[in-house]
Parts: sequence; structure tokens; C-alpha cells
Amino acid sequence: MALTVSEIKRINKLLLAWYKANARPLKIRERYKPYEVLIVEVMAQQTQIARVDELATRFLKRFPTLRSLARAETADVLDAWRGLGYNRRALLLHRAAEAAHAAGGLPTTHEELERLPGIGSYTARAIAAIASGGREIPVDVNIARVVQRLVGGPRLTAKPLQAAANVFGAELGDGEAGRWAQAAMDLASSVCRASAPDCSSCPLKTACASAGRVAASEKKRRSAPVRFGSTARWLRGRLLDELRDAGRGGVIIRGARGEHPAPAVTATIKRLCDEGLAEKVATATYRLPRRK
Ligand code: SF4
Repeated sequence: MALTVSEIKRINKLLLAWYKANARPLKIRERYKPYEVLIVEVMAQQTQIARVDELATRFLKRFPTLRSLARAETADVLDAWRGLGYNRRALLLHRAAEAAHAAGGLPTTHEELERLPGIGSYTARAIAAIASGGREIPVDVNIARVVQRLVGGPRLTAKPLQAAANVFGAELGDGEAGRWAQAAMDLASSVCRASAPDCSSCPLKTACASAGRVAASEKKRRSAPVRFGSTARWLRGRLLDELRDAGRGGVIIRGARGEHPAPAVTATIKRLCDEGLAEKVATATYRLPRRK
């Protein structure tokens, strides 16, 4: 890494000061309990943060503790996941809560958190850093971009990038790694953008190895937009919403839905059953899985 320790410390200081004045006003940032951070981080894996901010509160109202989530029926967890999409995350979150509750509570280190179902490297480090004072910086695609630009040099792969991020973490005070990660996330979305970084207004420009040197990337040629209604994701979401609306008795799932012909609907509901997101209760009748 080209940066000296004093430069690292200066970057940390500048970034945290910038965050103090410019943090996005999100309700979820006021949640620091490990269980709450777990919910927020799993939701944020594939959902925009503004949407998570709105829906995490609703979910936490319904399942306010690890115990309440671990003891819930799968159907109720999937029902509470309405509006978030990528429903397998809800299933894995439920399994993670069951495993953690059975083991006596959520672990505090990222190594232990990563052993829970559905918890990857980024999510584990984010929970550990935000809720338990972990010092490893969680690295997702946005934080990776900021770290890569700060250190400069050849493009780093995942492991060296994590190591580079940890160098910043090592120079932070107790409990600051989580705030650093949230700050880098906000900087990545508003200043250190992927295709057009605004180095002239960046708080880190005097210390960043790439300041003013990131070539504006060529605009990607856009392929013809895919209508959401024609995608498999739409159909899965539509069927899951039908199951949510149906309740315990279930609903008949047969025939076409929107642009999707009957065979595609049959194949999709079968897949949802195989994945544990639905269960068959009678001929062509399905519901959210009631068994735990
Ligand atoms: S100076 Fe430019 S490249 Fe460096 S962190 Fe700031 S916006 Fe990103």
C-alpha cells in the first residue's frame, strides 16, 4: 500500500468528520443492537437502503428479538418480508436466527457470524463492526471502490482489498470501524461514484492516491431494457404475494399469470416448494410453509 500510517490516520479523521456532517438521515443508523443490525444488514444485501430504512422498522416491530424471530413460523417471517424481494434471504435469516438462538445468542466475531446460514463475509463484518466493536472493515462493492481508489496501484482482488481496508480499521479507535464503513458507503454513493467521482468536492482529495486521476468510464452501451413483468423474479414475487394474501388455507395456483404461461407458473411454484418458500396443501393448492 502506498499510503503511510500518518496518511491512513488522516484519511480516517477526514472521513469520520465528513460523515458527522453529511451522513444520510436514516432511522436504521440509530440501531446498534446486534440483532437489529443483523436484520438491517441482511435486508440491505439486495435492497436499496432507503427501502430498508422503511421496512426494517416494520419487521422489527413484528419480531423485536432474536428469540421472537427464532420461534416464529416460517410463514410469518415470509409474510413480514413483503416488499423486500429476494425472499430466500428471509428464509436464511430465519435459519440464522434459529441457529444463533439455539447456541445461546448472536456471536460477536465476524468469524463466528459467518458460520450462520446466509451470512457472508461483508454482512458478518458489518454486524461485528457496527454492533460489537469489530475492527475489520466490511467490504462490499462500494467500499471496495473507495478503498481501491484511496490506496491506488493495480486493481486488487477480494483478499488484498479486505487486507487494505483492515489497515484503515487498525488505525481507528474502539467502535469506529462500523462508522467508518457507513461513512465510506455514503461517500461512495454521493462523491466517490463509480463512473464520475467528484474528486474536487471530496473530503479525502488531499490524501487519496487517485484524486483527480480516475478516468471517467465510458458509458456502458445499454442493452434493451427488460420489462420486469416478463422476468422470473416478477413471477416469483407475484406467487409469493398470492400465498401471503391467502393465509393458512392456501390458494389455488394454476394457469397463467401476467405474461407467464401456465407451465412456467407450475414450474415456479414447484421451485418455490423445493426451496422451502411454499408448501402444497392439496391439489394445485399452496400456502406459505407453516412448519418450522
Ligand atoms: S479523491 Fe476522488 S477517487 Fe479519491 S476518494 Fe475522493 S472521490 Fe474517490
